[in-house]
Amino acid sequence: MELEQLRQQALAQLEQVHDEAALRSWNSQFLGKNGALTQALKRLAQLPPQDRPAYGQQVNALKEALLAALEHKKAELHQRELARSLAAEALDVTLPGRPVLRGRLHPATQVMRDILAIFAELGFQVYRSREVEDDLTNFELLNMPPHHPARDLWDTFHTTTPGVLLRTHTSPGQIHVMRQYCPRPIRVVLPGMCYRYEQITARSEIQFQQVEGLAIGESISLSDLIGTLSTFAKRFFGGERRIRIRNSYFPFTEPSIEVDVDCILCQGEVPGPSGSSGTAAAASSCTLCKGTGWLEILGAGMVHPVVLRHGGYDPERFQGFAFGMGPQRMAMLKYAIHDIRLFWSNARRFLEQF
Ligand SMILES: [Zn+2]
Repeated sequence: MELEQLRQQALAQLEQVHDEAALRSWNSQFLGKNGALTQALKRLAQLPPQDRPAYGQQVNALKEALLAALEHKKAELHQRELARSLAAEALDVTLPGRPVLRGRLHPATQVMRDILAIFAELGFQVYRSREVEDDLTNFELLNMPPHHPARDLWDTFHTTTPGVLLRTHTSPGQIHVMRQYCPRPIRVVLPGMCYRYEQITARSEIQFQQVEGLAIGESISLSDLIGTLSTFAKRFFGGERRIRIRNSYFPFTEPSIEVDVDCILCQGEVPGPSGSSGTAAAASSCTLCKGTGWLEILGAGMVHPVVLRHGGYDPERFQGFAFGMGPQRMAMLKYAIHDIRLFWSNARRFLEQF
């Protein structure tokens, strides 16, 4: 009778179990080491010997029944949990996935490669030069002795080692390449990063890329330089482009020139020496060239005899031309970008346009 009561009590309580914790508690209450069933088994010793086998069999049968009921309940709880999580965490596997972002070359890198490819077709090799320079190579050997006023053109990042600085232009590479190849002819482009201690604005950055070009030989003239740059401008900006040469000054070239290309936006006419300006009305409203009809693209000139001599070449026998441009500026002109700071912003909205 006691065992039958225990069975009914256990099964009735199991009916009320609805989670794992309650099931564990039920398990220890009835089937645990000090549970009701163990207590029932202990009473075996108090029974008369002839009743013990039958009682023992009944306890064992009850234990089997309770274990079976426990397994059944476990399976039921598991099924219920599965159904709950399927309903709560439903996943529509037919939804399209999130696209993987694909990288691409930075616009500054693209433009740099475009420039180098054009000069490669013209026979120029790439020569890479160091970004940390000494004062001697960055200034003095390029015809800028310590107190030369032209040094004021660049505010310079000096290192804590006296006389060692971050190059302000790619021109010191001219000295390195000349000393390496002298007295052979040279036709190289020198790309790379330059550094100036300047206020960061829409038009100036403290770091920027430059591409320098250098050609040395025994019969090189200013017309070779102009022909080279004119070809470059047409290949880079389009076949219709014309260039304009203006007089300028750089310490390391003589004579020095600055080169403009006619505006790619308004196709501005040359306000010629006679003052004729056929499309002045169209040019004046142009935001890119500010109504001048021309865009300044680079500085150039014939290599100064002092620089040639410092490179190891005899200026009586050799001549050369050099030019330098900023790929970022070229990209700004070509793609009408108004702020040079965008190149370092890592903004995807900007980068994804190229
Ligand atoms: Zn224009």
